[in-house]
Amino acid sequence: MIPPGETIGILGGGQLGRMLAMAAAQLGYRCHVYAPEADSIAAEVCAQFTNAPYTDTAALATFAADCAVVTYEFENVPVGPLAALQGVPLLPNARALEVAQDRLSEKRFVTELGGNPAPFLAVDTAEDLARALDTIGSPGILKTRREGYDGKGQWRIMADHDAEGIRIDQPLVYEGFIDFFAEFSVILCRGADGSIVFWDSAENVHKGGILDTSSLPASDAVLAQVPAARDLARKVAERLDYVGVLTLEFFATASGPVFNEMAPRVHNSGHWTIEGALTSQFENHIRAICGLPLGDPRLAARGVEMTNLIGDDAHDWPALLADPCNHLHLYGKAAARPGRKMGHVTRLTL
Ligand code: AMP
Repeated sequence: MIPPGETIGILGGGQLGRMLAMAAAQLGYRCHVYAPEADSIAAEVCAQFTNAPYTDTAALATFAADCAVVTYEFENVPVGPLAALQGVPLLPNARALEVAQDRLSEKRFVTELGGNPAPFLAVDTAEDLARALDTIGSPGILKTRREGYDGKGQWRIMADHDAEGIRIDQPLVYEGFIDFFAEFSVILCRGADGSIVFWDSAENVHKGGILDTSSLPASDAVLAQVPAARDLARKVAERLDYVGVLTLEFFATASGPVFNEMAPRVHNSGHWTIEGALTSQFENHIRAICGLPLGDPRLAARGVEMTNLIGDDAHDWPALLADPCNHLHLYGKAAARPGRKMGHVTRLTL
């Protein structure tokens, strides 16, 4: 057990790190952020900041020497250099990071556990792409195996000719287009003792590949698919000997839940838990990695809606604050670029 007063290391300097640090502070922990960007919005709310590349093993070793445990808010941290943490526990572990930072390996991993992803094939060459189009057909989506997020690194192929001229200069995966009626996520937290809690599943609506809203309760048609989706998420967590918050995203289809992707971390579709659940995803993640008992994840209201503030949406903060029922979260990012997550608003139905 890591008692309050100790220092938690966080790899990654964005809004997820910021909200983790705020939850850690509530429990009396100090946080030390490690991030390659100098203007980290997580570092602004932390006791310590190391500004260095993820490959700088000397900086990682010095950082680890200040920490009782290290976690991450960003799954694209390269795994090799993490050996420099020299025995300071990394939670969730490096295997979880390895599986989840590669779309191909996560699809293979969940398939082995009985999960059902969209039909997929690895694409490393133009010939692979032609074969994938032959086997899986169009429409489909070509995605980078690594580092894609919020719809970035994705090409929609509505008909085979859309694939003409696509330059393949990194490992990709082609997946068939899923005809879904809704999207939802399963967020769980597994404690150091192996106990697992699940939050209610939010129904998620994406716009342009970016999460727009997460709403609870989900529709009955989605709720009917949650048990099977939870089974898979539990198997993933147990197989990885996972400690912390884990997110799996699903498409709800006429033939049941189809796995989309997983994130070995707190997730945007769980931001509603800050006000909408008895214990937030951020607090339970901190509790789990410190070996504390987990808090109750149950809904704290009849309904919850979380809306992301993307780009210029954040400039509406005066109007949003004028409604006393809005819980406004702004991440402190300097420039409201299009497509950038600047904050979110949560509303409860009591
Ligand atoms: P991703 O970054 O892979 O989660 O993709 C972002 C969003 O694009 C998803 O939440 C879906 O709305 C859509 N999408 C991704 N993959 C597929 C697919 N195979 N079929 C249909 N829609 C998809």
